Amino acid sequence: MTVKTDMFRILNRAVRGRLIEDEPLSGHTSFRIGGPADFWFHPKDIEDLSAGLKACAEDGVPVFVIGRGTNLLVADAGFRGVVFDLAETFTGISGEGPEVNAGAGGLLWDLLDYCAARGLSGFEALAGIPGSVGGGVRLNAGAFGREVRDRLVDVTTAEPDGTLTVRTRDALAMEYRRTALPEASVVASARFSFEPGDPLRMKAEQEAVLARRREKQPLSMPSAGSVFKRPPGDFAGRLIEDAGLKGLRIGDAMVSGKHANFIVNVGSASASDVKALIDEIRGRVHARFGVTLEPEIRFLGFGDAA
Ligand SMILES: Cc1cc2nc3c(=O)[nH]c(=O)nc-3n(C[C@H](O)[C@H](O)[C@H](O)COP(=O)(O)OP(=O)(O)OC[C@H]3O[C@@H](n4cnc5c(N)ncnc54)[C@H](O)[C@@H]3O)c2cc1C
Repeated sequence: MTVKTDMFRILNRAVRGRLIEDEPLSGHTSFRIGGPADFWFHPKDIEDLSAGLKACAEDGVPVFVIGRGTNLLVADAGFRGVVFDLAETFTGISGEGPEVNAGAGGLLWDLLDYCAARGLSGFEALAGIPGSVGGGVRLNAGAFGREVRDRLVDVTTAEPDGTLTVRTRDALAMEYRRTALPEASVVASARFSFEPGDPLRMKAEQEAVLARRREKQPLSMPSAGSVFKRPPGDFAGRLIEDAGLKGLRIGDAMVSGKHANFIVNVGSASASDVKALIDEIRGRVHARFGVTLEPEIRFLGFGDAA
């Protein structure tokens, strides 16, 4: 295990971007939960990102790339390693004709706005997904029958050996909420291709999607969206609701009364509260229906126990 002083030395001599020590991750997750990361790093540009990844890989420093932390449960003890944050510098969006290139640290929302203003249609159904472009690619985010893969052409990734790679959509073998991108590869940017669309109609479609979300989802409370993936032929929310678990609470973590597949932080929930509630839901749904629910949210800092 690399100690903190070594981590600082290893990174500080390799990179130019800002390094912050002991950054609380609760401020970077939509759950508002999570202990500190040993280091938080803003790469200055793609070369800096590559240099940082390479230095960490060579010296065995654990790395985690965060998007907007909207699908993430971070342990109360935090993360012993370096969190790479692309939200400061990897946010550019540019395009020509039907093609758009978006930095991985930018918001999916900003990409949708860019597209709507230019009549580039295809992602209207993704309105309201609060994550980054990179997180959306990694998880093949989607809603209302549409997914990121529908419009993805290719991604540029930074690799732990310091190189950059372009991977086509086919090479990513994207499926429901998963991508065959190696865990250590970092999406730096993504290229998409859209259809011509009417900006007014597209905006209206986005508004309709947002209204459906407001109606069905507990958006006024901290959460990480759907906790579990859809099991084959069913819905996690239906199973949890029919198991009578709406409102079930451990500490300040509660199964939402509005949408059973959301866990909400009703006050100052700890990561252990949320984790215990997830385990409880899985156990009870399995006992009742024989279905094993697979978490959709990602865990950080829990070791292999998650
Ligand atoms: C209210 C609410 C509603 C939601 N609705 C939806 C929905 O309708 N559909 C849906 O799919 N999701 C939904 N989500 C979940 C979440 O917004 C998506 O999964 C989103 O794609 C996560 O992006 P992020 O940037 O927040 O990723 P994070 O939570 O920060 O990270 C998630 C994973 O992606 C990885 N990652 C992030 N950036 C990169 C990168 N640049 N390169 C490589 N890996 C990276 C992380 O390492 C981590 O493993 C919702 C969440 C909330 C809070």
